[in-house]
Amino acid sequence: MNLVIFGPPGAGKGTQSKFIVNKYNLYQLSTGELLRNEIINKTNLGLKISSTMNSGNMVSDKIASDLIEKFISNEEYKNRLIFDGYPRNISQAENLNKLLKKYNQKINLVLKLVVSLDSIKKRISGRSVCSICGKIYNDYFNPPPVNANCCSSKYLQKRTDDTLDIAILRYQTYEKNIKPVIDFYEESKLLKVVNGETSISDITNEIRGLIEGIKGWLWLISQYKYAVNKNSLIYGSYSRNKYSTK
Ligand code: ADP
Ligand code: ZN
Repeated sequence: MNLVIFGPPGAGKGTQSKFIVNKYNLYQLSTGELLRNEIINKTNLGLKISSTMNSGNMVSDKIASDLIEKFISNEEYKNRLIFDGYPRNISQAENLNKLLKKYNQKINLVLKLVVSLDSIKKRISGRSVCSICGKIYNDYFNPPPVNANCCSSKYLQKRTDDTLDIAILRYQTYEKNIKPVIDFYEESKLLKVVNGETSISDITNEIRGLIEGIKGWLWLISQYKYAVNKNSLIYGSYSRNKYSTK
């Protein structure tokens, strides 16, 4: 099963994807996160895109497409992808269909998390991420644990683009570009709208219902069989999923 998740920056895509990844053995392909890692690691690509990214703007369609094709073409991720941050415009949506078709795959479900700008401001200004395990916290809604080994304050990091001004710009860019993309998926009947203003666990439950409704129990059973047959492979990818999202 391949999934696309939409929502403005700070809507809770990362928070919810962490749950979906573990529960359904999927891989979260967060283009924003992968690109930020290129910047942190000062790769050639990272140096090229850092000023664009840090000012809250989008990288070119070509750069984004090359990045996702690496995953779509990889057998290990076949039918296991959650696209987070891609597509962001119609030509990217068309490109995604084309790439999936090229590698014999398709999108099974599109989720749209709806959250107001007021909530987004709080979520972004309160957000921190544990650099060890990748868990996402929020000072207001989901505070990090006290006395923890892993997620203690010395490991918690703020994103450099998590300032109020940039958050507002990213929200507006998102709203402006995403409307036609949402319409595109609505037409193909893949789209499910989720109220992203409720609690993290309520949203998780709603998403779980949607995923299980799409494929039904048969799909779950087939995943279980797959897990039994390819035990070692599954464990390998579990740990990669966990740590690839630092
Ligand atoms: P995105 O990946 O969409 O940018 P995140 O998953 O990083 O968003 O969440 C943004 C911030 O909002 C984080 O600090 C997270 O802890 C918090 N958050 C996520 N979901 C909720 C929710 N339902 N209610 C309150 N805060 C939330
Ligand atoms: Zn941690």
